[in-house]
Amino acid sequence: MTDCLFCKIISWDIESTKIYEDDTFLAFLDINPVNPGHTLLVPKEHFKDLYEVPDEVLSKAGPIMKKIANAIKRGVGADGINIGMNNEIAAGQEIFHAHFHIMPRMSDDGYEMWHGKPYDSDETKKNIAEKIRKSL
Ligand code: AMP
Ligand code: ZN
Repeated sequence: MTDCLFCKIISWDIESTKIYEDDTFLAFLDINPVNPGHTLLVPKEHFKDLYEVPDEVLSKAGPIMKKIANAIKRGVGADGINIGMNNEIAAGQEIFHAHFHIMPRMSDDGYEMWHGKPYDSDETKKNIAEKIRKSL
């Protein structure tokens, strides 16, 4: 995709700080890290978001994420790692080339996680689960 920032990074038309590369993926440092070492793992082929990424590409992503997560932990001495993926505008996606965020966390970095709230009833919970199962 000619107008895709991450495609330009993959083709080296735009510079990035490479962390990992193989035939299917490139990983590079996020320019605006939540903590130093925040890495983006990106399929080299252009897929807009999770829904478009073929299963065979996705199945390769897990072990690479684990490898990079361990390397970040060791490399920057992270106390923990968050893995994230934003899909669609409502979920905060800004670059429409599928990517995983691998984010080092420090015990004292002060970030808060999302605030969950309990279901208003067991009935609601069962209905939601039923709708999701039916959609699988
Ligand atoms: P998302 O909201 O999941 O689409 O995240 C896009 C991420 O790409 C953000 O965390 C940005 O900081 C990061 N980003 C944007 N431009 C660049 C760039 N040129 N090099 C590295 N990371 C970038
Ligand atoms: Zn792209």
